[in-house]
Amino acid sequence: MKEFSGKTVFPGVAFGKLCLLLKPDLGVDTSPAADPDAEKKAFRSAIQTANRELSALFEKTSEEIGEDEAMIVDVQRMMLQDEDYIEAVDAFIRDDLNKAAYAVDRAGRQFFDMFSALDDPYMKARASDIADISRRLTAILLNESTVFSLSGPSVVIADDLTPSDTLTLDKKLIRAFVTRKGSTNSHTAILARILKIPSIVQAGVPLEKAFDGKNAAVDGHRGKLYVEPDEETMLRLEERQKNDEAEEAALDAFRGLPTVTKDGKKVELAANIGSVEDLESALANDAEGIGLFRSEFLYLGRTNYPDEEEQFESYRKVAEAMNGRRVIIRTLDIGADKQAAYLDLEKEENPALGLRAIRLCFERPEMFVTQLRAIYRASAYGKIAVMFPMIASLWELRRCKETAAEVREELVKKGVPVGDVELGIMVETPAAAICADELAREADFFSVGTNDLTQYTLAIDRQNARLERFLDTHHPALRKLLAMIAESAHKAGIWAGICGELAADSQMTKTLLSMGYDELSMSPGFILGMRKRIREMDLSRERAEKRQE
Ligand code: PEP
Ligand code: MG
Repeated sequence: MKEFSGKTVFPGVAFGKLCLLLKPDLGVDTSPAADPDAEKKAFRSAIQTANRELSALFEKTSEEIGEDEAMIVDVQRMMLQDEDYIEAVDAFIRDDLNKAAYAVDRAGRQFFDMFSALDDPYMKARASDIADISRRLTAILLNESTVFSLSGPSVVIADDLTPSDTLTLDKKLIRAFVTRKGSTNSHTAILARILKIPSIVQAGVPLEKAFDGKNAAVDGHRGKLYVEPDEETMLRLEERQKNDEAEEAALDAFRGLPTVTKDGKKVELAANIGSVEDLESALANDAEGIGLFRSEFLYLGRTNYPDEEEQFESYRKVAEAMNGRRVIIRTLDIGADKQAAYLDLEKEENPALGLRAIRLCFERPEMFVTQLRAIYRASAYGKIAVMFPMIASLWELRRCKETAAEVREELVKKGVPVGDVELGIMVETPAAAICADELAREADFFSVGTNDLTQYTLAIDRQNARLERFLDTHHPALRKLLAMIAESAHKAGIWAGICGELAADSQMTKTLLSMGYDELSMSPGFILGMRKRIREMDLSRERAEKRQE
């Protein structure tokens, strides 16, 4: 047996035959082109073929997985129209007399390096899309196939997997993914989580041909790949798999039950979502509301702003589907790690401390007002609340409320129906946490964004994998701030929740509930497990101690 370790993208246990996904060297011809015009024509025709292939892949992905995931293919279709990329290939053909395949290969590498060097993780992740599209074009020009197929249940190992590699494979046969490269932020990682496929990235596994077809087991819980696992390992993992299945089935019993501790503390367990499609998972996992709708995802992966109508439709659908349960829409939190080219944002030295979220909305009132109008219109179809991100000062909250009131009034004047909309804030800057008492007097609720609150309190970039060991989400400074926030909220008579990742951290549940938090919002898949934990919890001692303080 051989054992290899990496980083977990999605936990779970899987077994299958190893399938080595090695991409053959396409061996481009670097000799000068005799007829540059013919090479240019061949390049144009390869673009058309690639477009057709990607359209077919788009259809397949939409049908098999969903339209949101198919958008990944669309990003590549858009890249095929990128004028800078096309011009770079044309220039290599024209100026250096490269054959089309070599010109595409060179341009692909040039753009790959350019994107890889960018700081923004989203743009960095696009480097693999560039490599993917260039390889597709090169293969078309050389008449080579880029299609991989699996012959049975497989543990796929590769140097790296591009989204289109992943989407082309037969999902029914993929048991697990293991890659030598890759980040937990990549589209492939996102797909693995959506498809619930155990997967490991950055695994120190050599890509030996001899591995192909060997029996393998993946323990996604511990980030382990076992090649030719011994009997003891197999027995242990089979046991773990059975336990996982039994645990998941047992959670069914917690559907429809109230989330309440043994001593009677009631908690609202809500879901974090990023799109209308995520609703399915929120409902399937019995979410008691939507605690965070990251509305900025409506603005990403596209070429222009979503208009009021499109946004209204999305918000209305979510409000209707939740059927009277509260849906908290966070206004646009774009900037920093979430970028879109059409926003034309200036490059900043410190984007996390820069023009993002509410600051950008104040700079672009038309964008902010359009979103608020869409939200207020949708509020007639369910129970909608609005939450403003990255608030640091009282004047910001006041300005948000003024704008919201103006939008509401204008709609009412026109006879457009609107509902009662709570206006709350995300507490995710240390300034907001420290001034929580003042803010609580003017906000309808607080939801703590522990992801950003941790990064700003500890002065640690949450995107930097090398700082992971310093990013202590249980740091005493954070606990003090969390206690202050809940206390200030309750003194002012408003409720307080948590929508950062800490809400799903089982080691903190008792602490957070003892502090008095009223709501926890998390990825839908964690809800039923959390309900079980809370229902088995007794906080009478902690609550008595708190009363004595
Ligand atoms: C947070 O900061 O905790 C949060 C929920 O917002 P995001 O992760 O989208 O910044
Ligand atoms: Mg945040």
